[in-house]
Amino acid sequence: MPSVTDYALARRAVLRDFRRGTLTRLDVCDAHPELLRAAQFIGTDIDDDCPVCGATNLRLVSYVYGEKLKQANGRAISNPAELRKLGASCDEFACYDVEVCVECRWNHLRRQSLHGRLHAS
Ligand SMILES: [Zn+2]
Repeated sequence: MPSVTDYALARRAVLRDFRRGTLTRLDVCDAHPELLRAAQFIGTDIDDDCPVCGATNLRLVSYVYGEKLKQANGRAISNPAELRKLGASCDEFACYDVEVCVECRWNHLRRQSLHGRLHAS
């Protein structure tokens, strides 16, 4: 199994600070236009509501990073098959799953996972 880092604790901390008023909506709802576009067009729906505005169309976008990925480095990927294909052709790379609300621009890293031949089960 690929090794996974879950960022649920960091997410909770950000949301706690937001509810306490330490962070403003501008601080937490700052998705870059590129990220918003990726969320809209290639992201996948996830079963969660936005923790900030309550919108029901929270989206997940996955980005892959790794020196060996060459032209795919830093690319947003659109489906699990693409991830598997990259995993079969490369020793190691990281995948970052970011949740994005296209309504209020809330965004947060959900998890990071390592993929590639070194992590194949
Ligand atoms: Zn929202």
